[in-house]
Order: sequence, then structure tokens, then C-alpha cells
Amino acid sequence: EPTQAASPDIIFRSKLPDIAITNTLPLHRYCFERLPEVADRPCLIDGVTGELLTYTEVDRLSRRLAAAFRRETLGVGRGGVVMNLLRNSAEFVLSFFAASRVGAAVTTANPMSTPHEIANQLSAAGATVVITESMAADKLPPHGDGTLTVVLIDERRDGCLHFWDDLMASVPDDDLAVLASDVDDDKEFDPDDVVALPYSSGTTGLPKGVMLTHRSLSTSVAQQVDGDNPNIGLNDGDVILCALPMFHIYSLNTILMCGLRVGAAIVVMRRFDLATMMELVERHRITIAPLVPPIVVAVAKSEAAAARDLSSVRMVLSGAAPMGKDIEDAFMAKLPGAVLGQGYGMTEAGPVLSMCMAFAKEPFKVKSGACGTVVRNAELKIVSPDSGESLGRNRPGEICIRGQQIMKGYLNNPEATKNTIDAGGWLHTGDIGYVDDDDEIFIVDRLKEIIKYRGFQVAPAELEALLITHPCIADAAVVGKQIEPEIGEIPVAFVAKTEGSELSEDDVKQFVAKEVIYYKKLREVFFVDKIPKAPSGKILRRELRKQLQDHQQQA
Ligand code: AMP
Repeated sequence: EPTQAASPDIIFRSKLPDIAITNTLPLHRYCFERLPEVADRPCLIDGVTGELLTYTEVDRLSRRLAAAFRRETLGVGRGGVVMNLLRNSAEFVLSFFAASRVGAAVTTANPMSTPHEIANQLSAAGATVVITESMAADKLPPHGDGTLTVVLIDERRDGCLHFWDDLMASVPDDDLAVLASDVDDDKEFDPDDVVALPYSSGTTGLPKGVMLTHRSLSTSVAQQVDGDNPNIGLNDGDVILCALPMFHIYSLNTILMCGLRVGAAIVVMRRFDLATMMELVERHRITIAPLVPPIVVAVAKSEAAAARDLSSVRMVLSGAAPMGKDIEDAFMAKLPGAVLGQGYGMTEAGPVLSMCMAFAKEPFKVKSGACGTVVRNAELKIVSPDSGESLGRNRPGEICIRGQQIMKGYLNNPEATKNTIDAGGWLHTGDIGYVDDDDEIFIVDRLKEIIKYRGFQVAPAELEALLITHPCIADAAVVGKQIEPEIGEIPVAFVAKTEGSELSEDDVKQFVAKEVIYYKKLREVFFVDKIPKAPSGKILRRELRKQLQDHQQQA
């Protein structure tokens, strides 16, 4: 048989030239490289209390915490895993960089998660220490046997350690040996060690630990802010709003790590609230506001925005979900002095794939609906989902990315890793998009099963696995139903009952609601005789989405 010669890949690159990237340093050293220059400048500001930590203070406190991590009581060292089950706080940041210092990784989780979700992630990630707050502590699995050390940041409790009184206080702040010590002393440091372990379901299946290394994260940060003419030209005079949760990689990387790298001040909001956010923008003269589309929508529609002085904002970034022109226009009417641009990220990609170039030194005009051009020092291609062929401009296909910023793989899951990063090193995103004549990327569809609500992931496989544990449910499938485009989709279930069983829509909803965080709750349930499946057993989700549409049209 004649073999067809594989046609060469059509590769898209940034419009900006590649730069020299330092990505072999431990992440904390890379992020704090400018420490001598910004030593006394504000680093973290608590949005509500106004409490301020300078760069020197953050550096010192994270060194002290690292020393406490190393001690026998906690015993966290190279290869160890700590869970940050926290809302945004200085403690989150200190714990993250303390882990980096000792060569450990932090797995991040939403403190609103249910006991079931927390227990799953703790055991899958192999975390031995969890740093948390009282609102989440009751949801932890029993830990009296010493397999898990619980550290509370806000309350003293039997059976738990206190972040400040027990850990920090155990290491005096004049202990020069501690302050000087670093993972760098540890000859065993490897830039390919995992430092962050967020959970994501990727293109299919259950949530998995995404292994982001010192190398991947420092590369990603460099791609955004390093060099003479970066995509986002941040500097040490900037005041960055941190309204997005640090447990999501968008906030952890693009706000926190990029902010520290340039020496900016970061205003930390414990939790998002529109009125407080606008008040903080005014009070702290925020210059950079990384947001997500639902927040952009909220500002655009807010009457109160007019009463606030938001003129200090020079740049608003939106990412994690699509945003359309109407919203962009409405938003800009409220902040005429700012530039609004989109970024496109995926946890597995480190996370930033592309970024609007409106923030570069010689800004390129932002196209409405575009999510920018691929970051520097990376390659992007568009692949036909049917033929695997690499496609040229203006032809939609699966977006694939390659570069040192992408994840090392999924934790303990070589199979899922292989299905996501191919032999050529290309990470397959499961997003359908195209590159236009100006190198701008447009996302038009999603090949993957993931549901996104307000930027948060809902993995259908997780809800399906839960549903079929119900004795009256024979089979189930979950798909997303689009509500407002900027808000995203809500999870809807198709359920086949076991023979002769009685089960109402409410029963099913409540059964799931007990076990999952609020945004994963089922909003609608349809009873069907059979779940449509391919001969391989794969759920035919497209078919179900079609049924959903038909149903909506009838209603
Ligand atoms: P996560 O890993 O939770 O950050 O989710 C990543 C997914 O969010 C991507 O694969 C996209 O499907 C979606 N996403 C992220 N940014 C954008 C954007 N600017 N426009 C459209 N979808 C986006």
C-alpha cells in the first residue's frame, strides 16, 4: 500500500520575538529574583483589613515556614505534598512558597468543596499536611491517627496546629541559619520537580493532578512578563487586584507569580464580592485587574460602577471562559481609560496559551472576541479532529500547544498523560479554534466533555460515577446546558432507572447535591430508557446535547 508522506506541521508563533528564559531556578527564587530592588515595597495587601506585608516580610515568613515544614512534626521535604484548602490570603502565598523552598508541591482546592471531594483529592495527591481555615476544617476526613496534619490559619483547635502560633512561632525570626537556608542548598533540586498540583479533568474523565514544575511555571511567567517587550507589560509600580481564587492556576500564575516577578503590589480579596471589589479599586488605586467574564458582565451591568472612581485601572484581563463583543463594549463604557483584553489558558498548559497583545510596548489593536496570539517561546498548531492533519489559517480545529511551560503530566496517570501530550510533545487542549490572518486565536467550540460554569470546571465523569452508585440508577450521563454565554453551562443529567424503581427528579438532584460543591449540582434531570453509547461504550454526548436542544425548543 502506498504510504502517504506526513505533511509538515503548520506552526504558529508569537508576533513578538522569543526571549532568553531562565527556567532552571527554583520557582520561589525566580519569583523573588528582584527582591533586593523591591525589598521594602508592598507585596501583599489584605484588601479588607489593609494589612500589608513587604517583599522582605513575605520572603522571610516563607523561609520561616519552610523551616517549620522541614521539622519532624510536619516532615515535608522534597517530593512531599501539602494541600492549600484556603481562600485567598497571605497564608496561602506563604505556604505555597514555603513548599517550593523545601522541594514540595502544593495541591490547591476550593475550601467550599464537600468532604467527599476533599477526601478524594487528599488521597489522590498524597498530601500529608493540609493548610486550611475553620470554615473548611470540619469537612476533613478523620485525622487523629496522624496520617494527616491539619494546620488552621484562623483558629486554635484540639488536634490541629495553628499556622502562626505553632508553625511560624516555632522558628524565631532572627534565626539567621533558617533565613539563609534554601532549597538551593539541597543539591537534589531539579527544575522538573513538581511544585504545583492543581486538579483538572482535562479533556476527559475524572479530575487529575496536573504536575506543574518549577520549569513549567517559571517559563509560563517569563512568557507573560519577562523581556523588554512582554505581552503584559507589568512593572513594580503596578497594583494588581487579586479577586480570583488562588486555588485556580489563573490567579496563582497570572496574578500572583507574575505580580511577584515584577515587584508589583497585590491586593488580596479573600472572596469575590462586586461592591467590595469596586471599593478596593478606588481605595488602592488598582492598575491591573485580571478577571473572568462573569465579573466583567457584573461590572458592565453595575449601576454602582459610575459612583466609583475606577480611573486608575489601565488594564483588564479576562480569561478562563469566552467573552463576546456586547459585553466588551458595555464594559469599556464603564472604564474608558482601560484596555480590555483576553487571555486563553488551560491548567495543563501551564496555564497560558495565548494573550492579547494590547499590553505590549507597541500595542496591537485588540480584535473583539479574540483571545490574543500564542505566547512567546512556544508553538501552536491547529489539528483536524478527524484526520489529524495540521490546518492553516482560518480553519477551525483542535488547538495544540508545545513548549517548556506545559505540564509534566498527570500524577500517577501515564495513560491520561499519553492521551493529552502526544509523542511529539504537543498538548491537545480539546478546544476548537482557529488562527486568523493576524495571528489572533478565536475559540469557537469545545471538543472535550468538560462543563464550565463561571470559569469553574465540572467534570461530567465525576457526576456520572456518583450517579451510578445510587441503587435505583442503572446508567447516567451528564452534559452541559448553555445559559448566558459569559456565565457558561450548567450540569444536566440523563438518567436510566433500574427496572421497577421509583425515583423523582428531586431525589436525583438531592442525592448529588449532598456530595458536590455548589456549581456541580444538577439543575435538571431527564429520565430516559437508555443512555446513547458508541460500540466502544463511550457516551454519545453530542446526541444528548441535541436532545437537550430539541427539548428546549419544544418548551
Ligand atoms: P481550566 O483548566 O479550568 O483553566 O479550563 C481551561 C478551559 O477553559 C480551556 O481549555 C477552554 O475551554 C476554557 N477557556 C479558557 N480561557 C478561555 C477564553 N479566553 N475563551 C474561551 N474559553 C476559554
